[in-house]
Amino acid sequence: MVLPPRTPKAWNGRLFNVDAKHICAVCSSNAPLELPKRLDIVAFNAARAFDWKPLPLFQIMARGESDYREWDKLLTFLVDHSRVAVINVGDVQLLLKPPAEENEATKKIMKLVDVAYRARPGPAKRPIAQMHPEYLTTLSQTHSSWLFGAVAELIDNACDAGAKRLEISIQMGTLKSPEVSEVPMLCFLDDGLGMTHKDIVKMVSFGHKKPEQDDPEQIGRFGVGFKTGVMRLGRGALVLTQSKETRSMALLSTGYNEGKDVLEVPIVTYTRRAGRMDIDTGLQTLEDSQKHRDVICTYGPFDEYGIGAEFQRLAGETGTIIYVFDLEKWGSSFSLDWNESDDIMIRSRRVRSRPGQTSPEVPLDYSLRAYVEVMFLEPRMIVSIQGKKVTTKCLAKTLNSTWVTSATLMGKPVQLTLGVMELERKRGNCGIFLYWHGRLVESYKRVGNMVHSAEWGRGVIGVVETTKLMEFDRGRVGVLNSKQGFEDCEMYAAMEKWLGEEADKYWETRVEKLTTEEKEGLAPDKNWVQCSKCLKWRVMDPEWHGQLPDHWFCYMAPYKGSCNTPEETVEDGVVTTKTSRGTPVRKNTRGKEGSDITDSSKPLSRLTSKTTTNSPKVKRTSKRTKKE
Ligand SMILES: [Zn+2]
Repeated sequence: MVLPPRTPKAWNGRLFNVDAKHICAVCSSNAPLELPKRLDIVAFNAARAFDWKPLPLFQIMARGESDYREWDKLLTFLVDHSRVAVINVGDVQLLLKPPAEENEATKKIMKLVDVAYRARPGPAKRPIAQMHPEYLTTLSQTHSSWLFGAVAELIDNACDAGAKRLEISIQMGTLKSPEVSEVPMLCFLDDGLGMTHKDIVKMVSFGHKKPEQDDPEQIGRFGVGFKTGVMRLGRGALVLTQSKETRSMALLSTGYNEGKDVLEVPIVTYTRRAGRMDIDTGLQTLEDSQKHRDVICTYGPFDEYGIGAEFQRLAGETGTIIYVFDLEKWGSSFSLDWNESDDIMIRSRRVRSRPGQTSPEVPLDYSLRAYVEVMFLEPRMIVSIQGKKVTTKCLAKTLNSTWVTSATLMGKPVQLTLGVMELERKRGNCGIFLYWHGRLVESYKRVGNMVHSAEWGRGVIGVVETTKLMEFDRGRVGVLNSKQGFEDCEMYAAMEKWLGEEADKYWETRVEKLTTEEKEGLAPDKNWVQCSKCLKWRVMDPEWHGQLPDHWFCYMAPYKGSCNTPEETVEDGVVTTKTSRGTPVRKNTRGKEGSDITDSSKPLSRLTSKTTTNSPKVKRTSKRTKKE
């Protein structure tokens, strides 16, 4: 079917890649149909797979204001691999053709590309999600620097599905191809809403999220995480999922796709009604689904009975199980370890370096447990690793001498919580934790004088939520696709500067004067515990710290309340200072005097060797000369 031509029109818009990355501003002088402002490439298909003759054409070009680098990269990719970039616009499919070889030079200069268009093929004809395997490899490089980024994507998937529980574990599975072998698998089991056929197609295809559909509650907005994460960690992934009315399975396998031109992801979907499972023939023929099921059983870690048994783990409820199989225990740049403990360790050959940091002891860089503990700003999911519950914490609620400050940066509001953590002080760590949509993006970011000094700011931890700051026009965001860092933009620079100023101020006025002895045993201002049922956080007295069971509920001591009681809110801008420990003013290790921290009459018997020259309540007199 060829679409009837309409009067060609001038059009301006923007082009985005499969990973939702902005390519450039584009325009056309002869667009024959209404086009949206945003065009998203959804796939790269082989050019020879199309019959071009009957397809009408129009042209698009990069707009003057553009940075042409990404555009050139795209055109080069199309030419080098004889690929067509596919864009869906409602019922119409646009096909960006590779510029013809002989005209390549001219076309590149003119930045002009032919676009063919046709009626969009119906979903029934595409039972298999398709994409170019090579492009997948390119995208998996996104996570090359740090492997937990890949794991984090899978945790995000569970969180986005509204899961209350997530179990992460290493199990063994059996592969039949190319030979029978026992392989380790990384498993993620959640009790979220599960995925429908449409959801699972989205998950295994690229670039499904359009900005107008952006759900601020969802973290996995780029949609590339699953594929890239999986391809870094193992040789494939099996997805078993159950929604209210469907049950689906899908397999992403490098073994099955070896030597193939397009990556094929077989998917089988059943309808679930009154305990019966029937192939959904509205989505695929019985023949196709049988074929896909065979592929899944041949190349995946389970046979048909095994898959049935695994589905039993969802106990008839909704949820998703993802198995990343044939883990690379010794990757070219990492090692994966899970034998010794109730943790899963991923050690990168390339250690993450942070300017100014001298301590090698940063567990969240290699321990999955340590990472999951602080991964969410407000943890609302009970996560267990290797069968043991992770004690997630709201980092901002575990600080001593908590200080909250806010500002408006380039017209956008931001709030920073600063405090001291004894453990981090001992390890020699400090820095800011930056969250985006409640998810950790950057950790231990050294700011202000911390960058230049290993001692400055020691033990100071900051927490900042950057969502509002990092949202720009046209749905663009200042977060990298890997969600492991921010774009080096003007806003980031402004934020960095402000964080530095505030952290320095906090250090100078509140922490630096404390002696080492005083800094020891700095307990959190408040102790929080999360109910395993309602997932609300409750304040408890410090003496209960470490005394409660893994799974604690609201009705238990010391709270002895009800899950219905709303959570206590922490007021913005409130400065809380721990005063239970004695802190009389005296000389500190630098020989400077004074402290403006409230004193207490409690004597510090351990400090008798120190000379106390001032009586308590004496105001600080010595001027600080350090910074600037
Ligand atoms: Zn509760």
